[in-house]
Parts: sequence; C-alpha cells; structure tokens
Amino acid sequence: MSITIKYRCANCGRIMDAKDLDILPGIRCSYCGSKVLYKIRPPKIKRVKAI
Ligand SMILES: [Zn+2]
Repeated sequence: MSITIKYRCANCGRIMDAKDLDILPGIRCSYCGSKVLYKIRPPKIKRVKAI
C-alpha cells in the first residue's frame, strides 16, 4: 500500500502529487514556482456500519 501525499500551492492553489515534486530540486510549485506548499493528507476512509 502506498499513500499518495499531495501538496497544494499557497499561491495558485494547484494540487500536485509529491511524486511530481520529486523531480524538481526542492519542493516548489511546478506551475508558478512558489515555495509555499501545504501538505494535504488524504482523508482516512472509515467504514461505519449503518445500523
Ligand atoms: Zn503555484
């Protein structure tokens, strides 16, 4: 199982995979070049049993 970590650019709001950012030297937005990125964790999927 692999967890996909995503980043959202604080400047332009684009969402990128961490995989795509690995190509670049240092983490920065591949669209606008901003270095301010927020890490987005994928929401945990909980199974709730409906009664
Ligand atoms: Zn950006």
